[in-house]
Amino acid sequence: MHRIVIVGGGAGGLELATRLGNRLGRSNRVHVTLVDKSATHVWKPLLHEVAVGSLDTNVHQISYAAHSHWNHFTFVQGELTALDRHTKQLKIGPVLETDGIEVLPGRSIEYDTLVLALGSRTHFFGVPGAEEHAITLDSLRQAERLRKRLLHACLRKTAHIWAGESAVVDIAIIGAGATGVELAAELRRMESTFKHFGILAKGPGARLRITLLEAGPRVLPALPLRVSASTHTVLDSMGVSVLVSKAVTGVHATKIELADGQTLPSDVTIWAAGIKAPGVLGALDGIAVNRINQVRVSKSLQSETDENVFALGDCASCVWTAENMVPPRAQAAHQQATFLVKALCARIDGRPLGIFQYKDHGSLVSLGSSTAVGSVAGPSRGGKVFVKGYVAEIIYAALYRKHLMAVSGLRRAAFAIAAHMLGRLLSPRVKLH
Ligand SMILES: Cc1cc2nc3c(=O)[nH]c(=O)nc-3n(C[C@H](O)[C@H](O)[C@H](O)COP(=O)(O)OP(=O)(O)OC[C@H]3O[C@@H](n4cnc5c(N)ncnc54)[C@H](O)[C@@H]3O)c2cc1C
Repeated sequence: MHRIVIVGGGAGGLELATRLGNRLGRSNRVHVTLVDKSATHVWKPLLHEVAVGSLDTNVHQISYAAHSHWNHFTFVQGELTALDRHTKQLKIGPVLETDGIEVLPGRSIEYDTLVLALGSRTHFFGVPGAEEHAITLDSLRQAERLRKRLLHACLRKTAHIWAGESAVVDIAIIGAGATGVELAAELRRMESTFKHFGILAKGPGARLRITLLEAGPRVLPALPLRVSASTHTVLDSMGVSVLVSKAVTGVHATKIELADGQTLPSDVTIWAAGIKAPGVLGALDGIAVNRINQVRVSKSLQSETDENVFALGDCASCVWTAENMVPPRAQAAHQQATFLVKALCARIDGRPLGIFQYKDHGSLVSLGSSTAVGSVAGPSRGGKVFVKGYVAEIIYAALYRKHLMAVSGLRRAAFAIAAHMLGRLLSPRVKLH
């Protein structure tokens, strides 16, 4: 039986494993295996809500073990550490408990077709102190760490107010791309809830002072000018201090340094500027990567140096137009997963794989409850329509539902969405522990 191994069960990898499992695994034509270092999947665009405590991950996680059973593929937990292309084997590291006790030993897995879908992580660009002192938003563990750091910073400052000291919590977000902007807006939205539950002292003396810093000349540098300008205006009106053309040159425990010599106080620093693919990809036997470790792939998403190895999503470097590469977005990972379902079926049947063509359906940025800004595909071919407000927020919310439907099917997604809504009614609006 042909063995397809997918490494990384994120936005692209989980969808691919699910659809291949149901199409080929169910009829025992192909053995599909998904490898992920975690035991559960959370859709990454939700992580800013996890970090602020407005979304309970217990409700939104998908267990790979159960999901694989329902969708006819095998799940293996572990981290990809090496590849032997000649024997077509991957090496998976041991699974350890948090205190280092081994749960599962390291293993080898054989493949006929390998798909790398390892996503991306934060790029600190070598800024001194950034990796040590700033928190990122590139995994569930980091988002939970940020939530606890925020909670503790607020509680600490609340204790200060009893001693008559300032209870302002300084939060510096470095990078005004979609992640930084959405996090700033979500924090501002949740401030009153923090006060409501006593996490932040009541009264005007206690507040979150949110500063969003961007090295480039505008927020959302990758999105159209109109979306960027509108977002800047909304952030201003929310009381988020937006500083553009400000490069950060150093991060310390309680302050950050800027290239112009200025320093800013910071109780919590979040790094949301730039991505790179996991370092392990750069060390894989004979797989060509670019300078940020992304696997260089052809138009059929095959590695330029090995036709048995494919890559998709954030960890793939794929040409889109003469000037642009396919951007690291959930919609690109979804489109590539859809393409690979067909291409891998064709490969098994000995037919040509076809060519992947990325279609930009636009981008939306959520700016807290009932407002979002963005540009979406319009009626004319290739044209984009500017959207803002409640309509944009509805389209934004639909993206997660679409992901749920793609991986869980219509019936299970409908139950999950109903459960999420009930959960919101029955639980506090912020995770307090
Ligand atoms: C806070 C935030 C907000 C975002 N908002 C949006 C948005 O609104 N719209 C949008 O289009 N995009 C958004 N993105 C980007 C989007 O989430 C990514 O582009 C998308 O998740 C990429 O999908 P992927 O399948 O390539 O990787 P991921 O979804 O990152 O999944 C990678 C998987 O690989 C696993 N993995 C990593 N290394 C290993 C290893 N060595 N061994 C085994 N497993 C491994 C990880 O555990 C993970 O499950 C956002 C990202 C963030 C962080």
